[in-house]
Amino acid sequence: MHCPFCRHPDSRVVDSRTAEDGSSIRRRRQCPQCNRRFTTMEATSLAVIKRSGVSEEFSRQKIVTGVRKACQGRPVNDDDLAKLAQRVEEKIRGLGVAEIDADEVGLAILEPLRALDQIAYLRFASVYQGFDTLEDFESAIASLRRDAEAAGSGPAS
Ligand SMILES: [Zn+2]
Repeated sequence: MHCPFCRHPDSRVVDSRTAEDGSSIRRRRQCPQCNRRFTTMEATSLAVIKRSGVSEEFSRQKIVTGVRKACQGRPVNDDDLAKLAQRVEEKIRGLGVAEIDADEVGLAILEPLRALDQIAYLRFASVYQGFDTLEDFESAIASLRRDAEAAGSGPAS
């Protein structure tokens, strides 16, 4: 693997760590030419099957791009999006499957997005869950309200 800093064609592994769930290995590498360190990640290939039947490699960037649209004008920054995409990837890889439907990826996004921003969540859910009536929005909003009330009531003790 070449060095991302100086493009030296070789690097030395200085540390190797398996993720807790066993789904990936992170390697800390050092470049023998510029001595800088970088991390590589080895994970099993994860294919996303689109509705059209076409499969493509899972990409965190695609999650970010998809969610960013729903977050337009909302107080959500790139850091929040990167963290959300990481949570989604961890959740999906935790399933231990080699391929997953695009719809399931969409569903895996809903929960962390709901915690991040409720308006972005409603926009995203309306597309992924195919809201087509006002009642769909009303029941989603009612569910968000119940959450807010449950959170606002404080610890039961
Ligand atoms: Zn280098």
